[in-house]
Amino acid sequence: MIADMQNAGLQPWILSGYRSYSAQAISWEKWNREEPERAAILSARPGHSEHQLGTTLDFGSPELAEIVGIEDIEFHTYFYQTSEGIWLAENAHRYGFTLSYPRGAQELTGFFYEPWHYRYVGEKWLPSCTIQAPT
Ligand SMILES: [Zn+2]
Repeated sequence: MIADMQNAGLQPWILSGYRSYSAQAISWEKWNREEPERAAILSARPGHSEHQLGTTLDFGSPELAEIVGIEDIEFHTYFYQTSEGIWLAENAHRYGFTLSYPRGAQELTGFFYEPWHYRYVGEKWLPSCTIQAPT
């Protein structure tokens, strides 16, 4: 999938992949320290992150900082507006990846919209899935 993205002229960054229990604990503690009110919808408790499965990736884009207007920003819901975010929303399912936390699905998923977070579930499970890019 990465090779196909690069062949399409994109520059997908992988910001996060596998995380150990202790790495997730550090992330969870950081979110609880910085945003205690929203930590539960922004980060998974240690032992509950899809990143601990080793099948989940967080993607970044070189376009994000300009779109958001914040230098060096890595994660923002505006990722869906980047060329990499648009390509992933339209094509990731062809490679067996699915967006874990779509927009408007917080009641189902328990997490805020994360257009950068894709989990590999296998192509056979997503035969006719089409994930629409938010407009
Ligand atoms: Zn993630």
